[in-house]
Amino acid sequence: MKEINIFIENQSENTTSLINQMKKHFNPKEVNKLGPNCLVLKEGVFVDWKYLLELIQLNAGKNLKFNFLESYLENGIELVRYIDSGISYFFETDAAEVELPIVKYEQEITKQNPVLFLDRDGIINVDHGYVHIFSEIDIFDDMIEVIKAANHLSIPVVITTNQAGIARGLYTHKEVDLFHRELKSYLLERGAHIDHIEISPFHEKSGNPPWNRESLLRKPNPGMHLKGWARVQGTVAGSLMLGDKESDRISISGLETYLIDDGYKIESGENVFDSRTQLCSESVRYLNKMLDFS
Ligand SMILES: [Mg+2]
Repeated sequence: MKEINIFIENQSENTTSLINQMKKHFNPKEVNKLGPNCLVLKEGVFVDWKYLLELIQLNAGKNLKFNFLESYLENGIELVRYIDSGISYFFETDAAEVELPIVKYEQEITKQNPVLFLDRDGIINVDHGYVHIFSEIDIFDDMIEVIKAANHLSIPVVITTNQAGIARGLYTHKEVDLFHRELKSYLLERGAHIDHIEISPFHEKSGNPPWNRESLLRKPNPGMHLKGWARVQGTVAGSLMLGDKESDRISISGLETYLIDDGYKIESGENVFDSRTQLCSESVRYLNKMLDFS
């Protein structure tokens, strides 16, 4: 049996309570061993993303650090699993597809490093619906200025984009990657730098296998954001998300969300703006305040 460890580093009273919480979420038969600072799970046992959300809510106001493991050792060989498939890997063998848990939770981090998250379609470029071919004329100049403001303040910029068009077979990962290469270099030529991009290729109802499943990575679930924070060593408190749909509201306390009401039936409320000018100026204002959280 292959063992999979979920480490909880820097044991403290809080960690003990987290381990107890964690135990509730696994069938005791499946928790193979409970070490002083790690759970050892049997292969094929998953960390429930709903549990992760609970963990985050339980620790509201603290900055938890999650690492999403994208490789692991098997017989001394490092195996890298596909892509960013979320809370479980797809592991293609000759025989079958095996899924492995990939999340590693570390203790609270104390140095604040808030992040600017951007939805892509409708925020950085015009949303024509299932956009997958890059076009310079579709890029919003005003958002370039917001990105530059974040860069100037050394605030990492992460794009989180649902790309169900992959699940639906409308375009491929390769095409999305090419789009993002072109987008990044277009922005760079204008002095704006993107630190990281996360995509979610899933759609539970309308997707083709293997993407027809509920995923932590599909907004409004928080997987892409968790991975983004892990990737840029960011922290939750003070981070800002800009979007144009209700699904861009990610339910993690500490993450602020600004939405533009652009025809996607956004429920009115705080921080919903009618115009891009307003969205962008308020975002820059927020970025300038952001570092006060640290
Ligand atoms: Mg959008």
